[in-house]
Amino acid sequence: MDVTKLTIKQLMDAMDAGELSSAEATRATLDRIKECEDLGAYVTVCEKEAMAAAERADKARAEGRRAPLLGVPVAVKDNICTEGVRTTCASRFLENYVPPYDAFVVKKLKEAGAVIVGKTNMDEFAMGSGSEYSAFYRVKNAIDPERVAGGSSGGSACAVASGQAFAALGSDTGGSIRQPASFNGVTGLKPTYSAVSRNGLVAFASSLDQIGPIARTADDCRRVYNVIKGHDAGDSTSYAGDLDMGEHITSLKGRRIGIAREFFPDALGGKVREAVEKAIKFYEDGGAEIVETSIGSFDMALACYYIISSAEASSNLSRYDGVKYGRRAEGCKTIDDVYYKSRTQFFGAEVKRRMMLGNFVLSSGYYDAFYLRASKARTLIKRDFEAALSDCDALICPTAPTTAYKSGSNAEDPAAAYLGDVFTVPVNIAGLPALSVKCGEDSDGLPIGMQLIGRQYCEETLLSLAEIYEKGAAK
Ligand code: GLN
Repeated sequence: MDVTKLTIKQLMDAMDAGELSSAEATRATLDRIKECEDLGAYVTVCEKEAMAAAERADKARAEGRRAPLLGVPVAVKDNICTEGVRTTCASRFLENYVPPYDAFVVKKLKEAGAVIVGKTNMDEFAMGSGSEYSAFYRVKNAIDPERVAGGSSGGSACAVASGQAFAALGSDTGGSIRQPASFNGVTGLKPTYSAVSRNGLVAFASSLDQIGPIARTADDCRRVYNVIKGHDAGDSTSYAGDLDMGEHITSLKGRRIGIAREFFPDALGGKVREAVEKAIKFYEDGGAEIVETSIGSFDMALACYYIISSAEASSNLSRYDGVKYGRRAEGCKTIDDVYYKSRTQFFGAEVKRRMMLGNFVLSSGYYDAFYLRASKARTLIKRDFEAALSDCDALICPTAPTTAYKSGSNAEDPAAAYLGDVFTVPVNIAGLPALSVKCGEDSDGLPIGMQLIGRQYCEETLLSLAEIYEKGAAK
């Protein structure tokens, strides 16, 4: 038995039955991480802490205690704070930053008995779609190392796909959980905005950022999601109401699946289209009714996202000034020198691009034309999704227009990568939950993901719909 390929459920069952210990599973995971070092999925591996946590978990289990993730090796994206463990955001700026506290979600993982094996590589400050913008080394795709892992949570998705963790946390501002999950053939859930606390997540665009799980199955995602969700007074946008508005669907009869035509443009590649249409047919054959619908404001979403996210990033990242956090450039004589040199030396090109874009759209004379208009477009996009979803359980569409592309192919044209976010960003703008699950492969054997989008706080609806698919479809 290859321990590192088990699902969380299989691992938990084996540990409960006494067939396997957490120490053994953690050892196997750490060995696998060493074997796969070349994939670049991790920035930091916490070998000692992980083995100690695994032994504690084994002891607790032997004493008859149980917890939802007791003894399960998991990874955490490197923009989520871990007490005493370096949290770099894959940036030179925070290369040596060791947080004095755990993020809310990390506390929750630890309370649930999870074993944190390390911190995963990503695009610097979560800005990117290929995990090629890490300041350290890029993440390679788990299926074809010449290709990108997707991003920005590329390390998390690659780790889960290659047996280097049973599940991993990612963050999703415009697709960063779903798109890498799709590119590596695993399952990723972006929760409803406000369902998971952002306390301890290094901010990119605060009105869009959400933390969520990447795992091998929808059920594994559910297990992690149920641990990390919940109200937290430490995040002013955290929701204190009912987070369980979804339904646990077991039969497709009478269910309604929405297909919004804008998500299937003429230019959509044959294999991706084919795979998603086949998955839709699966739901239809199972008894679901397929409903044609529309998101009329779809065309505005990409521009709206890049304006709002860059504006918020330019504000959030102004805190890295060489004074309060992270590194300071050497040889500075004045305070202006400290700001200028530190920011010039320690931010990568993509991060600088976003900050310049953000400052531009917020500057006087341009604010009304860009930021204000994007805010208005946001309202329209939200309304369109609400209307479409009022009539169905979920929308289905591709997660990304293509499968994983060759590393370096967007190097000359950074905006080309932005276009790949076209199906994921509308969901963040609307604040809705969405999940990516594998629904096929292209002719090179690269995974294709389909996206299920649901109503606010209806994660369970999406998870159970994905579960039905995983169990029923011959992929
Ligand atoms: N690819 C998108 C961007 O570059 C999304 C990133 C994210 O979700 N963190 O902004």
